Order: sequence, then structure tokens, then C-alpha cells
Amino acid sequence: MDLLNTLVDKGLRRELPTREEALAVLATSDDELLDVVAAAGRVRREWFGRRVKLNYLVNLKSGLCPEDCSYCSQRLGSKAEILKYTWLKPEEASEAAAAGVAGGAKRVCLVASGRGPTDRDVDRVSKTIAAIKEQNEDVEVCACLGLLSEGQAERLRAAGADAYNHNLNTSEATYGDITTTHTYADRVDTVQQAQAAGMSACSGLIAGMGESDEDLVDVVFSLRELDPDSVPVNFLIPFEGTPLAKEWHLTPQRCLRILAMVRFVCPDVEVRLAGGREVHLRSMQPLALHLANSIFLGDYLTSEGQEGKADLAMIADAGFEVEGAGTTTLPTHRADALAAAGCGSHGAGPGAGGCGSHGAAESAGGCGTGGGCGPCGDGGAVADAVAEPAPAGEARTDLVAVRRRGAGTDLPPNA
Ligand code: SF4
Repeated sequence: MDLLNTLVDKGLRRELPTREEALAVLATSDDELLDVVAAAGRVRREWFGRRVKLNYLVNLKSGLCPEDCSYCSQRLGSKAEILKYTWLKPEEASEAAAAGVAGGAKRVCLVASGRGPTDRDVDRVSKTIAAIKEQNEDVEVCACLGLLSEGQAERLRAAGADAYNHNLNTSEATYGDITTTHTYADRVDTVQQAQAAGMSACSGLIAGMGESDEDLVDVVFSLRELDPDSVPVNFLIPFEGTPLAKEWHLTPQRCLRILAMVRFVCPDVEVRLAGGREVHLRSMQPLALHLANSIFLGDYLTSEGQEGKADLAMIADAGFEVEGAGTTTLPTHRADALAAAGCGSHGAGPGAGGCGSHGAAESAGGCGTGGGCGPCGDGGAVADAVAEPAPAGEARTDLVAVRRRGAGTDLPPNA
């Protein structure tokens, strides 16, 4: 296909595709799908080889948010029966983080529900970062605390945060349809504050909220302009008890096309396969590794993912390798630019990266991602459920399980 040859050439040169080319990727047929994956895979390998970066979410504060993001299980008025708890103590968060690092995670994403942190919250998170880095100084820490006020980004950076996540989520034109309590411009402003403070910016999207192809292309082009180092791609987990509970539109094929489009538009950026991968990609998850170079290990913020061991086995079986702590995630040109901006991680040396509340992992869970397995937390249900075919548009609530283990519970985390 001329289209794919053109997109590969542009991806290898870091040249922006046209909007028409990006839309054409989303419009490819199922017959063309493997060619699309192979083409975007060439771009992925050029910049990231066969490495897969693992990230681990720690939900510092769950539920009871005053904001009204429609996709979020932690939103104002949510009837989703998620775990609800206030701030974890630094030692509790550090213990949860250690489990993720022991499981192979290179980055820990500290996420808290809420509109944004108070200065006292920034103090709390600073102590948590110190506790995590005391145990493992090489681990990358990303904070995801919502909208930042003046000076908070600098304080987080000084406390050791390598990255800050805040997702754009959807196009500017449709933002008001999913959230009324803050604006798209508020989100852009927070990402820019994080960048200005020298943190590695992480900002992505949620697909599957009823948006058009044009909306998807809009938000991905906006992300390219904003130029975060990592772009989490969430697939909506339609949580029962939220306004988007009936939005079951995604198919594995659609998810792969979306990931390919993101890779072509943001070729040298850490594209992270985030919430909803188990629910919507199901048995096609390994193909997505040809497009994304980063995933979350284990559970999400308010829902359960597949077992951490299954993530590792999938990566090995698909012919990829887990990125080690001593490897720089980003291509040299990006790593050098980040180091020059004041962030020592993510680039030269054990880097930073991104996570996200309000962002990366918030797709279906609230500021969190989704995933799904057994309600008792034994993790068996995902493996069982993926064996069954799911027609497009059919609800798969059997694949969505509220998180009942790890942070905020007495049960060990999934890592
Ligand atoms: S996405 Fe974040 S700000 Fe929005 S409702 Fe959920 S926890 Fe609150």
C-alpha cells in the first residue's frame, strides 16, 4: 500500500503525517490490518527496538472525587463499587511500589483522585517519593495528581518526581461532552507546567467514548504538538455505575488501528498501552506490542488487570524483552533534550516516563485504567474469559473486575 510506505518513511524521519493519512489508517479494512501493524511495527522498532517498558500503578487515594469525568469510576456520583480510601501513608505506597519494581517495573506511577493537589498533598507525595527512592534510587517516579497550581510542578520535581502525567483524553471540540468541571485548556496548562519544571510529560487519550475518527486524529495531533515523552492510549472500560457504562464499541481490530495511528503520528514517543487492553484487545494483546513500547504491569487504579506473570509471559512469547533499569527508554535525541530541560531520567540513564491519573491510567477506572479478572482477586477470570469470542458492540462486563487487592486492601498486589 502506498499509504503505508509513505507512513513508514515519515515515521522513520519523525515527519508528521497529514490528517488524511492518519484518518486513512483508521479506515483500513480487516484484510489490511496485519499490513498496518507490520508497517507501524517498523517505526516502533526503529525507535524502541523490541523493548517493552513496564510501569506500575499505585493508587494513592481512591474514589470520592468532586469532578465529573463521565468515564471515571471515581467521579462525583459514581455508583461503581470501587475501593474508596484516602491517602496511603508513604510506607504503604512504598511497599506497593516495591512489589511492582520486583515484578519488573521500571517506573512507578503515583496517582491520586481529585481535581488537583493542595500544597499539603504535595508534601505528602514528596515524602512518598523519598520513601520509594530510598528503597530503589533508580526507579522512575511519575506523579499523577490532577491539575497543578503555580509552583507545585517545581516542588514535585525538587522532591524527585521524574515525570508528571495528565491526559488530554479527547479532542478539544468534544471535551465539554465528557467533563464539565474543568476544561481542556486546564489540562493543556498542567502538562505545560510539568514540562516547564523539567519533568518528563506524559499525556494521552481514551478511545471508545463515542468519539469520531476525526476526534481521535484531533487529540493525537494535539498531543504531537504538546510533545509529551510518553502517550498512554487507554481504551474505555465502561464501568457499571458511570454515565458511559453502555459504550461498548471497541473491537480488537479497532484498537490496533488506533495504536498504529498513534505510532505513525508520534513515532519516537513512548506509546503506552494502558487501561482496557485486556478488556478490548483480549487475545490480540500480543499484536499490540508491535505498536506500543510500554505497558502497565498488573492491576490498574480501580480495576484488575491480568496477572503480572501473564504480562511477562506474553512479552516473551511475542518475541519482545522487558526493558531493564539501566536502559534509556527514549531515543537519544529525545533523551538529550529532556536532560537539557532539567529532567535526568527518561533520557540519559535510568529515566522517567509517565503514568497518569487524570491521564494515563484513568481510562475506565477513574483516574485509573481498567483491566479485568476475577472479582475475588485471584486473577483467573481474565484468562478464562479471553478464550470466548466477543462480537463487536457486545458488552463484556464479565471482563471488568473492580480491584480488590493491593493498595488500600490487606491483600497482596498483583505484580
Ligand atoms: S478522572 Fe480524575 S478528576 Fe476526573 S473524576 Fe476521575 S479522579 Fe476525578
